[in-house]
Amino acid sequence: MKHLIANAPDLPVALVADLAAEHFGLRGQIVPLYSERDQNLRLRDGDGAEWTLKIANAAEDAAVVDCQIAALLHLAAVAPDLPVPRVRITVDGARVARIVAPDGAAHLFYVFSFIAGEIAAKAPLTSARLYASGAMVARLGHALRGFYHAAAGDRGLLWDLRMAPQMAPFLADLPEAERRVLAPLLEGLIADVLPRLPGLRAQIIHGDVHEHNLILSPDGAIAGIIDFGDMIHAPLVFDVTGAASDMLTDAGRIDTVLAQFVSGFHSVTPLEEAEADLIYDLVLMRLVFSRMITGWRAAQTPEAADYMTGAGFGSMAVIEALIAKGKTAVTRQVRAVCGMPVEAVPDIAELVARRRALMGSQLYVFYDPPLHMVRGEDVWLIDASGRPYLDCYNNVPIVGHCHAQVTGAIARQNRVLNTNTRYLGEEILRYGERLTEGLPGDLSVCAFVNSGSEANDIAWRMATLWTGARGGLVQEFGYHGITEAIDAFSPSASRSGVVAPHMRTLLAPDGYRGKYRDGTQGLGAHYAADADRAIAELQAEGLGVAAYICDSAFMTNGVLEPQPGYVAGVFDRVRAAGGLCVADEVQSGFGRMGTHFWGFAHHGVVPDIITIGKPAGNGHPIGVVITRPEIYERFIRDTAFFSTFGGNNVSCAAGNAVLDVIARQGLVENSTRVGAWFKAELVRLMARQPLIGCVRGTGLALGLELVTDRESRAPATEETARLLNLMRDEGVLTGSEGVHGNIIKIRPPLTFTPAHVDIAVAAFDAALERV
Ligand code: PMP
Repeated sequence: MKHLIANAPDLPVALVADLAAEHFGLRGQIVPLYSERDQNLRLRDGDGAEWTLKIANAAEDAAVVDCQIAALLHLAAVAPDLPVPRVRITVDGARVARIVAPDGAAHLFYVFSFIAGEIAAKAPLTSARLYASGAMVARLGHALRGFYHAAAGDRGLLWDLRMAPQMAPFLADLPEAERRVLAPLLEGLIADVLPRLPGLRAQIIHGDVHEHNLILSPDGAIAGIIDFGDMIHAPLVFDVTGAASDMLTDAGRIDTVLAQFVSGFHSVTPLEEAEADLIYDLVLMRLVFSRMITGWRAAQTPEAADYMTGAGFGSMAVIEALIAKGKTAVTRQVRAVCGMPVEAVPDIAELVARRRALMGSQLYVFYDPPLHMVRGEDVWLIDASGRPYLDCYNNVPIVGHCHAQVTGAIARQNRVLNTNTRYLGEEILRYGERLTEGLPGDLSVCAFVNSGSEANDIAWRMATLWTGARGGLVQEFGYHGITEAIDAFSPSASRSGVVAPHMRTLLAPDGYRGKYRDGTQGLGAHYAADADRAIAELQAEGLGVAAYICDSAFMTNGVLEPQPGYVAGVFDRVRAAGGLCVADEVQSGFGRMGTHFWGFAHHGVVPDIITIGKPAGNGHPIGVVITRPEIYERFIRDTAFFSTFGGNNVSCAAGNAVLDVIARQGLVENSTRVGAWFKAELVRLMARQPLIGCVRGTGLALGLELVTDRESRAPATEETARLLNLMRDEGVLTGSEGVHGNIIKIRPPLTFTPAHVDIAVAAFDAALERV
């Protein structure tokens, strides 16, 4: 930190003139130069030659000064055509003179030739110069490869990326919004990048090449590299990434700067693959360092901060633009300019053609053109070009994409045993016991299957056997799966709009657009009364009521909020008619709606059967039916129930790992807290975006209903479709729902943080502006 505190010596110029004559035999006109920690002056001697007089900070380590001088002497010997300052020896033949300032402080005094020209930072940063700078840095590194000096060892310089673990306190001086972005970034870099550095080729490097330390001749060529005060023994690639990132002052020119600088360097000193593959991380880390140090300086010494911010080092705009490009894309570019193999990414059109041929003419994909995802990481999905997308859509990875604890559990169990429920096993018992633990109403028996559809299909079979009835009830525009029986419970998937003869649909309790509107007294009860009509019809046809299947989140109806009395009112009516009530927790379970683990708890009801799917295995296919012992016994009296994969060892290991993570990471609470924050931010957004007619939902199951006119509530169907693509352009994945397709559906992993909310809301804001 001492190196950051500007406390430069300030000897009178007349005294410096005397000392220059005495020790270096130099006489002439002297002008002061800017310096951060030393006193620098320029002297023009009688022959017209110019010299830099350097009076070191009293706190400067003599060995560090000697390292600089020794390096320049080495360079003069091994690379005489390299444009670096030459060392002037004292009249006594020494490298430095020891002088005493009027205040009694001892300083080292030494002299280099002055390199005339313009500071590069003042000239436009052309592609040609970027390339030339890269080549020059490589030449310098090449010339320094045989040099060593103990003072360049472990210097503890803040700019050394290996100091990252000590950098956290610097975050404190940054605005909250920046801290939220940078803190996890720094943590990730420490974990992923630092362990890879000791394996790289290392040597003494300049350590501080940037546009203020490069001098240009009048024709724009590089006439000099100056300031060897930050030399350090470090990975050679630090000089590439340090210099390149300091030249990244314009978020729009990241590709050019990296491609030109790296290819210039590579033309002289070919990068190794391990170095090329670290460029993105090291540039990002250096930018983060710059931002933190700039922020710290702004807080400590506003004068010095001007110099830093003026230089444009480490701007948040550049950091965000680099992240938006993504590691894969940047690394591909770096590898390409270095002539290294780059894995080919199949063309989207080619994939689409192959898919049509193989999987039918209807693509059923999101977005036009569709996205080709290749990797998932927590709340992010990364496409084949390396671009990360914030996933606000996929409800399956409830604990985050590819959570290491879940993938680890799957891999471990897969190596040991994966068989079926024909054998005894503990993992399945532990899983089922944990699922049923604390459930109300004697819901204590499980049937293990592989999907939500299967779970609902089994639930339906249980209900028909238990009740002897044939009639089914479901929400209009509901969805519960794909089997023949459950397709009848999925009107939202029907293209014909025909409802099966044994089915009746119930009005969706939609207080915004439905028959009864928010503000109506007893809204839930009004909607529930619709079940009387449906039940009477089923009874009139002699079908009776076997089951009502209910999605507590009313997701396909547009994420309707729980209406007090609605589900309870329907359950009462169904039971009075002899039917069973099935809570389909495929969407609403596992904390999705916040506050409670189960969605039905939001409605104050106890179901007869619970079905789960999607998030149970965080992507591994798991379906479970949970019911009361007597219902299950009735079912297996007529059916030898067995599912080959249902409840296999690996699935149960996955299911248990998901429950572990939800508990350990407090994800139900997080869903409540972050969901409330997300909703509040969307409500704030509604104030300035007239297209938003309604914001609703609970926990991290949220809906935005878009209307072209808030008065008439005319659905903004086309705008919603366009908005989804615009959101994709902004790097955020969402989906649409509802009969009119005008409701944006938001269901991110429950690991979502307020920082992710900020990204998503900013994207909505920008996309709504352009829709
Ligand atoms: N129930 C609900 C509420 C669902 O949303 C879905 C899937 N979208 C299913 C059941 C069917 O699950 P799966 O696709 O795993 O068969």
